[in-house]
Amino acid sequence: MMKGMYDFVFEMIIQAKAMAKIHMKTPLVEMDGDEMTRILWADIKKLLIEPFVDLKTEYYDLGLKHRDETRDQVTIDSALATKKYGVAVKCATITPNAQRVEEYHLHEMWKSPNGTIRAMLDGTVFRAPILVKGVHPTVRTWEKPITIARHAYGDVYRNVEMAVPGPGTAELVFTGADGTVTRKKIFDFTSGGIVQGMHNVDASIASFAHSCFRYALSLKQDLWFSTKDTISKVYDHRFKDIFQEIYDQNYKAAFEEAGITYFYTLIDDAVARVVRSKGGFIWACKNYDGDVMSDMIATAFGSLAMMTSVLVSPDGKFEYEAAHGTVTRHYYRYLKGEETSTNPVATIFAWTGALRKRGEMDELPELIAFADKLEKATLDTIESGVMTKDLALLWDGEATAVNSRAFLEAIAERIA
Ligand code: NAP
Ligand code: MG
Repeated sequence: MMKGMYDFVFEMIIQAKAMAKIHMKTPLVEMDGDEMTRILWADIKKLLIEPFVDLKTEYYDLGLKHRDETRDQVTIDSALATKKYGVAVKCATITPNAQRVEEYHLHEMWKSPNGTIRAMLDGTVFRAPILVKGVHPTVRTWEKPITIARHAYGDVYRNVEMAVPGPGTAELVFTGADGTVTRKKIFDFTSGGIVQGMHNVDASIASFAHSCFRYALSLKQDLWFSTKDTISKVYDHRFKDIFQEIYDQNYKAAFEEAGITYFYTLIDDAVARVVRSKGGFIWACKNYDGDVMSDMIATAFGSLAMMTSVLVSPDGKFEYEAAHGTVTRHYYRYLKGEETSTNPVATIFAWTGALRKRGEMDELPELIAFADKLEKATLDTIESGVMTKDLALLWDGEATAVNSRAFLEAIAERIA
């Protein structure tokens, strides 16, 4: 009688343990977004995370409607929360243009949320492709991922430009705080044309450099940096000099100890070397180069939907997201009731990246293990031949193209 009772209690404890969800200490900053990715967002949480993790988040709705209702204050609040807690996960969001202002009856053409968040965290964006067996890089020699480190401040993204109406002289004018004026002629126009002014600041370049060196050390991968300093002898050269100075002063010894190298080269040379390489390094790029090269790298490795993206601030705050947008074309089909096969992998990896980082910061090995497990289940599902349409088109075996929901359910089954 007594023994039966013990067995029963013991059985209950085992069951309760099995059902106990993984515990979190600090909330993640959750930034919800727009359109198709907003739909995926809710499904990923419901099917892949909440059944296993006692999910703690501080929720910010960055959907365009709510950004407009709060006059974009919610974006600022979410960035402040990221500074406070240290780890955020963000869904793709619409950057409004004239057509969106009409579609959503917006009060204003709000700025890009990513731009606002990047400016507040002053970070570097690291983007790396997610590799799966069966999808081959266009470049045959690439064996390991190439991570792009993109400076997230200034240059052409903060430019001032104008059309020159006709003959005249364009100049750069700098008025110092003490009133000293410095002028430089840009061009004597004899007819109409265009002119543009760009800037960057030493402090932001320096924090970009620190983020890159630290990230290289954390991944134990070589760091490449490239600009066009032979042509841009002041502007681009400044980037090169700041990187070199910071490397020599702060990281040289640690790099040598880790057996990794820092390597600067001209961007044209870098492009040629990247294409001939085996991969497995970090390529630091200025803002525009990073924008363009990350799309090139993602596409050449397979798909933009298979690219992770994390913003790392110089003081160690992390914001994880997918590299792609809100997949508007699929969303309009979804609204018409049609089935969509949108790839959720990059968004799943945004969540796993954030959960893993939270686990590391809060010393929660179970949370880290869960992130690993969810990533593995996702890749195993694809490698078993079950995937969304975009990947099925690239696949070299027998593939079953399923809709997003069925794909997520297949992953959930694997984890359970
Ligand atoms: P997009 O959402 O990345 O989609 C462009 C095309 O790429 C899609 O039409 C689709 O091609 C394919 N694609 C992208 N992600 C996919 C996925 N997960 N699964 C399957 N196919 C995928 O870019 P967009 O159409 O230029 O921009 C849409 C909205 O997203 C815009 O309002 C823009 O402001 C915003 N955006 C946000 C972010 C961000 O928040 N980080 C980044 C970029 C753009 P097919 O239609 O051929 O299947
Ligand atoms: Mg881009």
